[in-house]
Amino acid sequence: MTLGIYIHIPFCVKKCPYCDFTSFTPETLPEDQYITALIREMEVRRAEVVEDVKVETVYFGGGTPSLLSPNSVKNLLIAISKEFTLKEPEITIEVNPGTVDLDKLKGYRDAGVNRLSLGIQSLNDRLLSVLGRIHNRKEALNAYESARKAGFQNIGIDLIHSVPGELLSDWKGDLKEAISLRPEHISAYNLTVEEETHFFRQQEKGLLALPKEEEQVAMFLETERILEGAGYEHYEVSNYAIPGFRSRHNQIYWKGGEYLGLGVSAHSCISGRLSVVSGQTNCGKRTANTSNLEEYFRLIKEKGNAIIEEEALTREKAMGEAVFLGLRMMEGIDLSYFKDRFGIGIDAAYPDAVNDLMEDGLLDSGGGHLRLTKKGILFLNDVSVRFV
Ligand code: SF4
Repeated sequence: MTLGIYIHIPFCVKKCPYCDFTSFTPETLPEDQYITALIREMEVRRAEVVEDVKVETVYFGGGTPSLLSPNSVKNLLIAISKEFTLKEPEITIEVNPGTVDLDKLKGYRDAGVNRLSLGIQSLNDRLLSVLGRIHNRKEALNAYESARKAGFQNIGIDLIHSVPGELLSDWKGDLKEAISLRPEHISAYNLTVEEETHFFRQQEKGLLALPKEEEQVAMFLETERILEGAGYEHYEVSNYAIPGFRSRHNQIYWKGGEYLGLGVSAHSCISGRLSVVSGQTNCGKRTANTSNLEEYFRLIKEKGNAIIEEEALTREKAMGEAVFLGLRMMEGIDLSYFKDRFGIGIDAAYPDAVNDLMEDGLLDSGGGHLRLTKKGILFLNDVSVRFV
């Protein structure tokens, strides 16, 4: 009976050209108004889950949560601890290196944050400029050093490869420098060009010089080789950790756990097991909040939640998602857990897909798990469409 809480902070200093997350760049941050709304939303939505639920993770994501003052973070965490029992929680805040100094990071630590996700993206000034980031290499390294000085012993850093103009040697340089810092966790994402971004419009005009597909594959393969060689476990398609330091919060998503999302555009998934109105469906419901900031403030004031979409999860949909998300984990899907949860084995639920993908060498089984092969990781999208 555990829950993760996600808090979306939809404010940024400047919009990056590749970003499709919900974020705004107001001249003046409506910080107090937003924190007050988040607390009201959390208190009202508390009633959706069973009384004895325990919160095991709190995650401040964005946008740029590190635009918040430590005091705001502290007030939110105090409010959460009044409503919920916290179970040795992992409390993470995403930090943009261009928005913090030692005092602010110490303030987050004192507020109760025990994990940082540092959005370094690259340690190459040329590529940081292409990505439109507000920080440079020196600021990224300073932020990392300050985080250690502030007492953080669990730091994740985010890196992006396959940036326009990036060479394999650039990426290898980023990886080698990253491991020399020895963060507990490294997320290494392949840049994807999302619709409605500046990069997408550039691509449409033929003006975006992404590395060729084989170069992107080489960067992915080098990531695994270099990071595993340095003692990081490759535990999810894009995520690596020193043993014992996997992201607990993100594993809630990949393993089909329950989470309550607060703030603009946040999503929640509360299963029948945790919901106080269970029985409507045995797989629970998913909700989505409005992406409009003014509407968010209005809805929270009027009714205490900002939900604009609600979907009852059918068994079929929940099964498809369990496969799609579970395959992202390198250990794969626990076949007996799947059968207990849905009352049917994966191979019985998807006989053609499982057989075809195993024959094609994209899936493998063993040790009671179904997982992607190395080749399957490279064709993740093709595998996923067979289940959703
Ligand atoms: S800082 Fe992060 S959330 Fe903000 S625009 Fe850039 S990528 Fe998007």
